[in-house]
Amino acid sequence: MNAASPQTIDWTRVRGDFPLLARQVHGKPLVYLDSANTGQKPASVIQCVDDFYRCHNANVSRAVHALGNEATEAYEGARTRLARHLNVRADDLVLTSGTTFAINLVAYSWALPRLRPGDVILLTRMEHHANIVPWQLVAERTGASIRVAEVTAEGVLDLDGLRAAMTSQVKLLGLTHVSNVLGTVNPVRDICREARRRGIVTVVDGSQAVPHMPVDIAAIGCDFYAFTGHKMCGPTGTGGLWGRREHLDAMPPFLGGGEMIRQVRFEGSTFNDPPHRFEAGTPNIAGHVGLGAAVDYLDALGMDHIAAREADLLSHLTESMRAEAGVRIIGTAPDKAAVTSFLVDGAHAHDLATLLDLEGVAVRSGHHCAHPLMDFYGVPATCRASIAFYNTHGEIDAFMVALRKVRRLLG
Ligand code: PMP
Repeated sequence: MNAASPQTIDWTRVRGDFPLLARQVHGKPLVYLDSANTGQKPASVIQCVDDFYRCHNANVSRAVHALGNEATEAYEGARTRLARHLNVRADDLVLTSGTTFAINLVAYSWALPRLRPGDVILLTRMEHHANIVPWQLVAERTGASIRVAEVTAEGVLDLDGLRAAMTSQVKLLGLTHVSNVLGTVNPVRDICREARRRGIVTVVDGSQAVPHMPVDIAAIGCDFYAFTGHKMCGPTGTGGLWGRREHLDAMPPFLGGGEMIRQVRFEGSTFNDPPHRFEAGTPNIAGHVGLGAAVDYLDALGMDHIAAREADLLSHLTESMRAEAGVRIIGTAPDKAAVTSFLVDGAHAHDLATLLDLEGVAVRSGHHCAHPLMDFYGVPATCRASIAFYNTHGEIDAFMVALRKVRRLLG
């Protein structure tokens, strides 16, 4: 744990660790406010991937030669570091290409063989499509149905409604830890405790939580926790699924192939133990080794310091936007991570984002893979400015200047 306080960390130096942030876009200094989409990578992660390919590249587990051992050690070392970071056992952590794969793994391997007609899958209104569509596919094939727990206008989960929806037919609850549209931090620990008392299996989507705050999966008490590596300073195509051992042990393979077997005969095959049972084929070795370096980087800063830094940046952004007439923030929960969706009177989200880009400001516009939430707010799209610890107060001011200019242009 880092002994420094967020005040004593030199955040300007930290920003200097991210080479890409020094570039210009359309002749203007880049203001990158799209970290909820994907995070930028520190030099240590880039160097680690480069070093892997230059010096250690080999396949994992299959080779007895030195390089094969080095690659396996590096890959498994990343799993160990990631598990420690999230306070779980490495043996219960399946490395995946990200959250989408992780949730599909639970859907096909845990839910598909178990759900029956009449069973209910409970989801919240604020889920990303990655935590909706796999359940729809499973519901179609099993005869189960989907029930939705609603949010309030502020973008907070209606907890009474959620509790009331947890009837005896509900077998599984899919719940995001942090909303990628609203920034809302859900009380996942309390909700998972409540679900567990009722025998409901919980699948928490941690994609937007792991980049922003300390996450202790054991303390959350869920059944499955899915996350993605590219939003937490790691390479794309990385991430994982943590599952309770009793579930993982009882789950059949999702994909078949090399690595996941014990013995293969034409008459039938036997399978490896988790987590390798769920890692068929050659994994993204270099990517996960890079994710291990990202975890080292985040741990050296301290996730609590990152959370404090981002809270400070978020309050500056929120105050600046609130002072701006005609700007409406979507998602005003008291407990928020650094994600701010907004609408501007008389301007379409895509037009705003396109013109902001010309000013060097990268924000996302669209439905953010959350159609049901857009429907709730009655809009096709929002703009979203999302912050990471490497952003600065000055960038937020530059964004506000650009926003005012763009609004004048849009007339
Ligand atoms: N869930 C949430 C809340 C997300 O923000 C995202 C990424 N936008 C995902 C799931 C999907 O992650 P990935 O594309 O890395 O699988």
